[in-house]
Amino acid sequence: MEGPLISLRGVGRVYPAGDGEVAVLSDIDLDIWPGEMVAIVGASGSGKSTLMNILGCLDRPSSGTYRFAGQDVGTLDEAGRARLRREHFGFIFQRYQLLPEFDAVANVEMPAVYAGAPRGGRRRRAAELLDRLGLGGKLASRPAQLSGGQQQRVSVARALINGGEVILADEPTGALDTRSGAELIALLTELNAQGHTIVIVTHDPALAARVGRTVEISDGRILRDTGPVAGRARMQVARPARRPVGAALDRLAEALRMAVRSMAAHRLRTFLTMLGIIIGIAAVVSVVALGTGSRERVLADISAIGTSTIDIRPGTGFGDRRAAAITTLGPDDAAALAAQPFAVSASPQVQTQATVTRGSVSTSARVQGVGAGYFDIGAFRVTAGQPFDAGAVARRDQVVVLDADAAATLFPDGSDPVGQTILIDRVPMRVIGIVQQTGISFGPRTIGLYLPYTTVAVRLTGQSDIDSISVRIADDFDMALAERLITEIMIARNGSRDFFLTNSDTIRSTITSTTETLTILIASIAVISLLVGGIGVMNIMLVSVTERTREIGVRMSVGARRSDIVTQFLIEAVLVCLTGGVLGVALAFGAGEAAGRFLPQIPLEFPPETALWAFAASSLIGIVFGFLPARAAARLDPVQALARE
Ligand code: ADP
Ligand code: MG
Repeated sequence: MEGPLISLRGVGRVYPAGDGEVAVLSDIDLDIWPGEMVAIVGASGSGKSTLMNILGCLDRPSSGTYRFAGQDVGTLDEAGRARLRREHFGFIFQRYQLLPEFDAVANVEMPAVYAGAPRGGRRRRAAELLDRLGLGGKLASRPAQLSGGQQQRVSVARALINGGEVILADEPTGALDTRSGAELIALLTELNAQGHTIVIVTHDPALAARVGRTVEISDGRILRDTGPVAGRARMQVARPARRPVGAALDRLAEALRMAVRSMAAHRLRTFLTMLGIIIGIAAVVSVVALGTGSRERVLADISAIGTSTIDIRPGTGFGDRRAAAITTLGPDDAAALAAQPFAVSASPQVQTQATVTRGSVSTSARVQGVGAGYFDIGAFRVTAGQPFDAGAVARRDQVVVLDADAAATLFPDGSDPVGQTILIDRVPMRVIGIVQQTGISFGPRTIGLYLPYTTVAVRLTGQSDIDSISVRIADDFDMALAERLITEIMIARNGSRDFFLTNSDTIRSTITSTTETLTILIASIAVISLLVGGIGVMNIMLVSVTERTREIGVRMSVGARRSDIVTQFLIEAVLVCLTGGVLGVALAFGAGEAAGRFLPQIPLEFPPETALWAFAASSLIGIVFGFLPARAAARLDPVQALARE
């Protein structure tokens, strides 16, 4: 003959109390055979629920052994006990323990989700069970819309969905009126007749009398056991086929549904939680857009000038303090370079600050001394008169070429400047041409006045050394080669390498790296705001775990693995953050759209991949900051979680 289904030997359970321990169960020997119906009776506090929790693998004995179907439960890990719970046991609690956010069908099918039953099949079976229990019209009702007796029948259906080989009912009629209680007992008796093994805790002596076997507990010990009765029905337990992959996907989908439901149930709180992520993501995306936009704009301006200009300056680089003392660069170098076959033109450059006066207008401006070739170098368009030629440079003519800004500043009356005379540091200079710069000038935009560099040296500064030489390289000539040749020529001419070259490429890379540094700087501030948002999510998730402790206990009691609980809360955190990320990106793009329309001077450029990065980042935040709450949820003790009000 087959052995008992449940077999306890010397089982004890102690709880820590103060410094010592208090024994709640001691030395329990109990065998329950398949198909039995056992009533456990005893005074309140005698240890009945503790025993039931041990039987149902929700709790573990402190001592002794528990064998279920011959297997030592003490050797199983948490996952193994969860499997026993979902495949062999069905719990019925005094307070029903249904999930209030789910309808009857969803409550009933939950254990089947964790057992890996296919969605269609388990929903059909849940509906059938509810129908059989007289709840055919209440499939879509939530627990709050059902009476106590109906709720308890939903929980019976939940206990049966995975087979319900052993049904553990802890004072199932305690919260019911007399009639519903009697109906429930009739139902359990009928299930027993069909072969389900049933263990029921009750206060009701009349009920206990109707049950075949009574076990009386007092102060954690078995006082009396009427023993097994003969003539038990046996049930065939159909194990659901395992489908590892499909089942895992199902559980993921279930976790997703649960997350959406819980977000929907707390809309305002969810939105406020998201707000930190929304703002953080929007900030990061906007900063990146601003950085990209400014860089693109500056680079576009640079390419307007063209890349074929090389500047030669004294010193080792921008910011070299000794550069001012180096006087080896001279006009003859410019002439020598201009004569090279690869050079279109070359011009010395000097700059000085001077007071410019015309009539009643007087302003301080930067005056550029350049050679005649200069107007072939920069991107200039002559709009009136003409620039000076080499003869004017040689003669140190007192002539000046204005740019459009200078012309507008000095001739506000709109008269034609060409041919008129202005004073530069009180030296009269005749305006001979107006030019328009087509590219960009770096640094603060000032009005442009161009004089022969010789005139600047003689009339304004009294110094003959020059600041730099600009060389325009032939369009088809290789820039790197030109730089090498210029370097060689300059070293040959001056004997030392006390100059450095820049071309618009180096300027371009300087600007690129500068804007990148700035972007990184501002973005790191934005990232900090994201972190703060993430901490907010973690905080609310921890609150949510506390709030849903009982739900977690219920899920564990029907066989959810700890990994299922972790997944559920992680998914919820990721979903909150990802939704926040999507809204944040939408906010940034929307703001960018508005800015483009109303403030076109703000350079914003949204690379599409930013959105993907933002989604990835917000998911990562969800995982990182959801992990702690999820772990806290999974570590809950199922018995204590269920007891939480
Ligand atoms: P019953 O269900 O028979 O009324 P319980 O099994 O719930 O009794 O509890 C038995 C005893 O164990 C009670 O005295 C109770 O206070 C104690 N007890 C139950 N759970 C804990 C716990 N987590 N920590 C300490 N004592 C506990
Ligand atoms: Mg109890």
